[in-house]
Amino acid sequence: MTIPNRLQQQRDFFKSQQTKNIPYRIKKLKELKALIISREKDIYDALYKDFNKSKFESFMSEYGLLVSELDLILKHLKAWSRPKRVKPSLLTFPARDYIYKEPYGSVLVIAPWNYPFLLSIAPMMMAVAAGNTVVLKPSELTHNTSTLVTEIIQTVFHEDHVVSIEGGVSVATELLEQRWDYIFFTGSVPVGKIVAKAAAKHLTPVTLELGGKSPCVVDSTIDLKLTAKRIVWGKLFNGGQTCISPDYIIVHESVKKELIDCLKSEIIRAYGEHPFQSVDYPKIIDKKNTERLVSMLADVKIVHGGDFNIENRYIAPTIIDNPSLDSKVMATEIFGPVLPVLSYSEAADIDVIISHYEKPLSLYVFSKNRHFIDTMLSTYSFGGGAINDPLIHFGNHRLPFGGVGASGIGAYHGKHGFDTFSHHKSVSKRGTWIDPPIRYAPYNNKLSLLKRMFKLLG
Ligand code: NAD
Repeated sequence: MTIPNRLQQQRDFFKSQQTKNIPYRIKKLKELKALIISREKDIYDALYKDFNKSKFESFMSEYGLLVSELDLILKHLKAWSRPKRVKPSLLTFPARDYIYKEPYGSVLVIAPWNYPFLLSIAPMMMAVAAGNTVVLKPSELTHNTSTLVTEIIQTVFHEDHVVSIEGGVSVATELLEQRWDYIFFTGSVPVGKIVAKAAAKHLTPVTLELGGKSPCVVDSTIDLKLTAKRIVWGKLFNGGQTCISPDYIIVHESVKKELIDCLKSEIIRAYGEHPFQSVDYPKIIDKKNTERLVSMLADVKIVHGGDFNIENRYIAPTIIDNPSLDSKVMATEIFGPVLPVLSYSEAADIDVIISHYEKPLSLYVFSKNRHFIDTMLSTYSFGGGAINDPLIHFGNHRLPFGGVGASGIGAYHGKHGFDTFSHHKSVSKRGTWIDPPIRYAPYNNKLSLLKRMFKLLG
């Protein structure tokens, strides 16, 4: 069936009003949960085949997170969907005012490869929870996981409701040519711009979950051993292929050498002297990305790691000392296990570095100095972040997750995800028992009364 036909089928289904039925949504999401739980082992196997992702990391960042978010949706869906009554305005008195949560209609979800299960299923299930139909395009780079995602969707949903269409750029391009009611995209900044342009043609609302260079600022007040342990964990989780991974460090010059020593020791403690032998160390997703990362290692001072094997899609955890802002490794998001360490002596130095880039998806500060932390938080705009630990803000569904500026538009997770896929429809309900005459023409002599009323209400 052609893409336009599939979309038409979903439009017809949406028009039938069935997706607006809350028990129906809950039933489908319960079926989804049951199937995901029964396929737990297959999910780990697929992720391992795609890029050697360990079972531990797969549970923590894909399966476990997803099932707990599904539980949350199932627990709160009824309450989230109910029209919310808000206080009336004295200007509209007498009326009862409500916010209705209305599904947009046909949603397109385009997913990346780096958390291929979570980032395909999570937006899809939130869109379904909100009452939409969904066409999902998973990544073409994680063949095993994307095939499993398609199989799970096919088993649970009729394709009028949700369908997974696999393919690469040409399929994504054809999908983007259609008219959608909402587009949810997770991926790189350049492709995000292509998506935004396609959406603009039809004034389609979008969420763009993008990336960027997320800084990690370390001052001289903090415990460096613990800092190194946490940064190494956050940087090398998923092989550094995480959108909110600390991209580079800016450390106070007085503790730079000590921090680098701690980082080296921690890498060896966690992954051994030969990380390619570690069962916990993921591969780079493909040859092209391995080559891209290897090209970042030229003409820089490598103080740890640096070895690679392109055929095996391996790059050792690598620390680079003080690369210039013009170097290749500092030009774009790294998205791999390569960690540049820059330094500062005063706040202005930090500013030169951070201001050199677009607003990042994340920012991390390691410090015990409250004033320093508050200054960092208030000076720089970023999607979200954490103090004294990387990545962790992603794990709280009460925190909206998304970027700002070039790192993205919109946010999701938990109720924020449900709200993302819902139009908030304002409705004032008015009775007929009273009808103050002031607003009706002729207006003569009523203006001063109106002004007094506004003053009273203001
Ligand atoms: P990508 O932009 O290359 O691909 C993402 C999706 O877009 C894939 O499904 C791909 O098939 C499709 N695509 C690729 N080229 C396209 C084109 N020309 N037209 C239309 N569609 C196209 O990204 P990726 O390499 O899969 O993922 C890595 C990027 O994603 C990084 O920049 C990372 O920071 C970002 N990311 C962001 C988040 C987030 O939540 N903010 C999460 C994960 C990844």
